Amino acid sequence: MEIGKNTVVSLRYRLFDDKEALLEDAQQIDYLHGGFEQIFEDVEAALEGKSVGDAVLVDLPPERAFGEVDESLRRTESRARFPAEVRVGMQFEGASPDGQHGAIYRVIAIEGDSVTVDGNHPLAGQALRFDCTVLAVRCATREELAHGHAHGAHGHGH
Ligand SMILES: [Zn+2]
Repeated sequence: MEIGKNTVVSLRYRLFDDKEALLEDAQQIDYLHGGFEQIFEDVEAALEGKSVGDAVLVDLPPERAFGEVDESLRRTESRARFPAEVRVGMQFEGASPDGQHGAIYRVIAIEGDSVTVDGNHPLAGQALRFDCTVLAVRCATREELAHGHAHGAHGHGH
């Protein structure tokens, strides 16, 4: 069976950054194919028409992966605004610069009385290489199509 609209695809994948360092190894996902925005658009396009056992290698520039770095999401604030135990790598919820929605900010630096946080995705600004193998292809169920995602062990859990 070939990958096409409204099929559920099981993939094993590895993700590399632009220096070919391994970011994620031997991950498995099930996704609903056909424009449901479950995986990167370019990877989905490369998988169209493939079948079990086929491997696909897709290079994604930053703007096709997790986006460019948005400097407005990097802020330096007074340490007094954070808990005493604040450390680099901790995450806090805050409002986006436009105040329209919440964002997750990671602490990236602590210097003296100032704490720098970054609300960008950790992989923003990075080119990625997505290396995947097709493990299975099946027709989506009516329920999966209604929900817009794949169900099952490596799909969406409810
Ligand atoms: Zn569902």
